[in-house]
Amino acid sequence: MSLEAWKRTGRKKAVCFDLNRTLLDVDGAFDDACRTELEDAAGRWADDAGALALEALRRYRRELKRRSPPGGSAGRKALREAALAKALEGLPFSRSPALIRRLDDAIRDRQAGHPKLFPGTREALAEIVRTHQVALISNGSRQAILRRVTAADLTEFFPPDRVFTAPPGSRGKPAPEPFVRALAALRVRPGEALMVGDSRTKDAAGALGVGMDACLLRPGSGRAPTAVRQAKGWLLEAASLQQVAELLR
Ligand SMILES: [Mg+2]
Repeated sequence: MSLEAWKRTGRKKAVCFDLNRTLLDVDGAFDDACRTELEDAAGRWADDAGALALEALRRYRRELKRRSPPGGSAGRKALREAALAKALEGLPFSRSPALIRRLDDAIRDRQAGHPKLFPGTREALAEIVRTHQVALISNGSRQAILRRVTAADLTEFFPPDRVFTAPPGSRGKPAPEPFVRALAALRVRPGEALMVGDSRTKDAAGALGVGMDACLLRPGSGRAPTAVRQAKGWLLEAASLQQVAELLR
């Protein structure tokens, strides 16, 4: 069986993690923030604010799905505001551009202040750090990522010198630079490290490119883990961080 074949390649010394959608349930945190803010807004007008907010969140999600994702942060903001306008259609207050902008800012602030870990993340990390060095490799701005790590209470696992981001002007994942910097700081060879992330193109392909093994995380897929030999290294798939911790035992 491939998993057994992968295990025979030897124990890893280090594990690098992506942050968003790997450790952090970004979409869940957004939904929570969106519901809370919509509920607050609707609560001033309606008794059944909770139900109204849930229905508005559904309209928001539908509208996001209907529109194709734009590039750039200005495009993304415009898309969110258009989806918010749609979400507010059923709510009992006016939908002025100023209100929509304020609401979008409030949702983003709340989301940033209330990051949400996938279930079992903290326990799995606690197990992994007992036997492995760990680091974080993320493409976000360094300041934003450090803030998020602090807000998610993950600093005990990922102090600032174990957080690797792309400095301004340099390329992030899947470019080799952040992986190579992380490996150098951890003092391990590529073959001694596993990269865990949700993106096939950025996390998995980037890690395999520098000779690390990669584990593609599919939170909630419910599938059993797999391992497939690649041209360089191995590509694993897991449905949760607990599965990753078990694979590393
Ligand atoms: Mg990610």
